[in-house]
Amino acid sequence: MKKQFAVIGLGRFGSSVCKELHRMNHEVLAIDNDEFKVNELKNFATHTAVVDATDETSMKKIGIRNFDHVIVAIGEDIQASILCTLILKDFNIKQVWVKAQNDHHHKVLDKIGADKVFHPESDMGERIAEFLTSEKVIDYIDLSDEYSIIESLATEKVKGKSLADLDIRANYGCTIIAIKQKDKVDVTPHPEDTLNPGDLLVVIGHKNDLRRFQKEAL
Ligand code: ATP
Repeated sequence: MKKQFAVIGLGRFGSSVCKELHRMNHEVLAIDNDEFKVNELKNFATHTAVVDATDETSMKKIGIRNFDHVIVAIGEDIQASILCTLILKDFNIKQVWVKAQNDHHHKVLDKIGADKVFHPESDMGERIAEFLTSEKVIDYIDLSDEYSIIESLATEKVKGKSLADLDIRANYGCTIIAIKQKDKVDVTPHPEDTLNPGDLLVVIGHKNDLRRFQKEAL
């Protein structure tokens, strides 16, 4: 379903969010106070606006209140990011997602009602570290500081073994939620399902258990 988004701050992060939403056929309003940045995004957004996002009147004028989902990707200027978030929450925008520069910024954003706060640089750093330390981990989703979901490659070690043989929940405390075999994805794996090298296992669990599982079992 086509949704409406506004992206404020068209640095590297904001512009890539904007381009991706546009590519997915959503309606996107791209906003920055730098005309050059806005012009660069002209072909990758439905509407654009050169506006200072800390100016309540200008924000009202461009119709920001009609958007249910706004992403604030103002980076360096923490004060502007906070003020803009306050204005958006004052406008009762349902979902305001904000990029934080550091932990203090994150705490303030939580306090003033940001609906989601993210740190793309440090989140990406964690993902890359996870990939670097295991050649079997293909993808990784962080659920919290302690839990994640990994997509991990099965090796020769598990050839012909069933999920019951591996007894993953009892031995490692994590759960296989899906198995990808060639073009087929099985989202209801059964104990008797057998594994082959090259299968992709989607596994959820505590990070320590997942590390032990993919090191020892696969
Ligand atoms: P990235 O790492 O994503 O490139 P960054 O963290 O370095 O970004 P900045 O470049 O400081 O962040 O800011 C991102 C964008 O936000 C810039 O294009 C900047 O012009 C825009 N911006 C900053 N302040 C405002 C404001 N008050 N109103 C609108 N846009 C703003």
